[in-house]
Amino acid sequence: MKVMIDIGHGGSDPGAGGNGLIEKDINLQVGLHLREYLNAYDVEVRTTRETDITLSSDERVALVQSFDPNLCISVHHNAASASEARGAEVIHAHYDQYDDKLANAILDNMEAIGMPRRKSFTRLNSRGDDWYFMIRRIWDNNTDAIITEGGFVTNQADADLLRRKEFLLSEAKAIGTAVVEYLGLKPKDSSNWWDEAMKRINEEGLIENIHDGRDAVTWAEFATVMSRLLDKLKI
Ligand SMILES: [Zn+2]
Repeated sequence: MKVMIDIGHGGSDPGAGGNGLIEKDINLQVGLHLREYLNAYDVEVRTTRETDITLSSDERVALVQSFDPNLCISVHHNAASASEARGAEVIHAHYDQYDDKLANAILDNMEAIGMPRRKSFTRLNSRGDDWYFMIRRIWDNNTDAIITEGGFVTNQADADLLRRKEFLLSEAKAIGTAVVEYLGLKPKDSSNWWDEAMKRINEEGLIENIHDGRDAVTWAEFATVMSRLLDKLKI
């Protein structure tokens, strides 16, 4: 499994601004926290940037396409002329019904950390394709694409949350846990501590197949293995 984290804006493109916050900076913090969170799982993770650099649309798309991930998450934050507008939004591809599932899981998690749910949606251009290039040019049958807008810098209450470093860590975790569930990722360190023992009893003829160490064993199977062991020990 491969996940690309596209960290929105950067360099000469600050993105949204308001209440003393600059979008490119909070995107970077959330994106790098998200990378760290996902790195604990059995998945290859890349980011489109890890510093304050300028990237063109073409450069972003090329970075994603050369990596060919299962999922590309673009991390953004929102702004509106009406300062009342607040809460998290997730934009998903119109092609794929399952992106809506991921979008809603992210919004549920955001709500649980105090960022209100605003909406998940798709937006189409006049040709009936996705409006946002990081979905339109990224999504295909092998790559899902989604954009998170983790609150409005132009809203006082949202900005008060987004100003806190611990909140940005929680936001990354909110997105990360939804992604882990969606892609069915397994933690790196829990993988196969039993492998060696399983291989040994298989080679010794006590079991015929290599099993998943998390599977339950019946008494019949246990008795069979013990009986083979007794034969081996010639008891
Ligand atoms: Zn943005």
